[in-house]
Amino acid sequence: MPYQIKIEKTKTPKEKPDQHNLGFGRFFTDHMFVMDYAAGKGWHDPRIIPYSPLSLDPSTMVFHYGQAIFEGLKAYRSKDGRILLFRPTKNIERLNISNDRLCIPQVDPGFALEAIKTLVKLDEDWIPSLEGTSLYIRPFIISTDPYLGVRPSHTYKFIIILSPVGAYYPEGINPVKIYVEENYVRSVKGGLGYVKAAGNYAASLKAQEEANKKNYTQVLWLDGVEKKYIEEVGTMNVFFVINSEVITPSLEGSILPGVTRDSVIHVLKSWNIKITERRITIDEVFDAHAKGMLDESFGTGTAAVISPIGSLNWKGKTIAISNEKTGELAQKLYDFITGIQYGKVEDTFNWTVQVL
Ligand SMILES: *Cc1c(COP(=O)(O)O)cnc(C)c1O
Repeated sequence: MPYQIKIEKTKTPKEKPDQHNLGFGRFFTDHMFVMDYAAGKGWHDPRIIPYSPLSLDPSTMVFHYGQAIFEGLKAYRSKDGRILLFRPTKNIERLNISNDRLCIPQVDPGFALEAIKTLVKLDEDWIPSLEGTSLYIRPFIISTDPYLGVRPSHTYKFIIILSPVGAYYPEGINPVKIYVEENYVRSVKGGLGYVKAAGNYAASLKAQEEANKKNYTQVLWLDGVEKKYIEEVGTMNVFFVINSEVITPSLEGSILPGVTRDSVIHVLKSWNIKITERRITIDEVFDAHAKGMLDESFGTGTAAVISPIGSLNWKGKTIAISNEKTGELAQKLYDFITGIQYGKVEDTFNWTVQVL
């Protein structure tokens, strides 16, 4: 069944925000994409309508049992006026993996990409042009049955909203202070850690808040069983450079498989830099530091692309990494990947999808 997206344009376009003060996730464009699901009928009625509040019954299942998943990707405006998406099919693939884990029906990947492109095209003039700015794309799915029993919902809404966002590093890429979390855990194998389920972020807030109070930017999560193996940092995947070898925790069911993580691995391989995916303990990292072999560490994710780690605090002990400066490899990866995203560097991997 070929879908046809109905488009209803807004009659009251909003004023665009100042590109110098966008921040993250504060402003939304004029339109949104919505599609409904009903058991027996499947996904239907795809439409783009003026951005507006939802009206939902207080018993709507998502409020009570949290059947909600999301994605995050960006559209970039290149200097020569093109609009580019970065590896959107990876996000759509992951959206369906999240759907599967939460008993939400699959969406057609080709149609989901078309929905994203159509919406971005319609709100194209919302894509900022200042250095480092972009249009954040947030697809999400919620369960919508008005019902209080615990079971998968029979109805859902797939929605896509767009938010112009500012440069993550307005003053240039800079390192962050990280607190190694010993008390709270983010996920365990068999749980939801490998999918972008809304509940994961609710579960992480307490640790994040306590780390912020101690003046740390983010927490580093250890595995939920032995609290030994490194998993992620905040909502980013994490990499360590030890003795010129790059190491990142292997994906074993509790770590979110980041698109940026995957891109970094591909780029490092193409540069003939040794990259290993394996379990790595926090002990090993502190030990490497003590031996003078911990060269760099950084987080990876769509928002920051590369976020250098300046220091790590674990059990009251703090270590400084690359003199709390941005490491050479972190900077090189940042320049290369953002170069591809903004169409400044030749896209040898074929990662960008042109919208306009
Ligand atoms: C989204 C996310 C990441 C990064 O994924 P990208 O696809 O690179 O943006 C890493 N960890 C968690 C927990 C996330 O939610």
